[in-house]
Amino acid sequence: MKDTYTYQIGENLYVNLTNRCTNRCTFCVRSKKTYEGYSLWLQGGEPTVEQIAAEIGDPKRYREVVFCGFGEPTCRLREMLSLCDTVHARGGKTRVNTNGHGSLIAGKDVAPLFAGKLDGVNISLNAPTKEAYDALCRPQIPNAFEGMLAFAKSCKRCGLNAWFSVVDCIGSEKLAACRALAEEVGIPLRVREMIE
Ligand code: SF4
Repeated sequence: MKDTYTYQIGENLYVNLTNRCTNRCTFCVRSKKTYEGYSLWLQGGEPTVEQIAAEIGDPKRYREVVFCGFGEPTCRLREMLSLCDTVHARGGKTRVNTNGHGSLIAGKDVAPLFAGKLDGVNISLNAPTKEAYDALCRPQIPNAFEGMLAFAKSCKRCGLNAWFSVVDCIGSEKLAACRALAEEVGIPLRVREMIE
């Protein structure tokens, strides 16, 4: 099956920049290699900016162009930001679904770089404490939970349209604690269904 660089679900176009990720979430769909009938596990290498830009075409055909894919889009920060400019220049809207590790990966605060590039920043919170986060998301880098929270706070400071997301299967107690944490950080929390 051919590698999928972009794929449409509903009114959105999703961009699959990389397989790389700093987490190994227990609920991740990556282990299945395909999603919604698309082969998202990139076997032939990561796509170039030019390849993605060509596939996006006219972004006004979609509600949003979403950097998501099987991996963590901020592993390819430069390429993602460059494609945001392309989408905006063509009149489209952008969003990233991120695990919030971009600053840890880059070794600097990357939230300020998102200003004017990403119209929406969806940060996977997934758990209200470091212990619960580490058990669920199995991060491969140190201080992943703290780094994710620091990134979220920086998004808030930069005035970005950012929110936390959490999967609905974590239980009501943890959900309530996630709500309290999101309030503390000052960004909304959205609860999403777990993908089976
Ligand atoms: S952060 Fe996202 S891509 Fe990475 S392992 Fe978790 S669910 Fe999968």
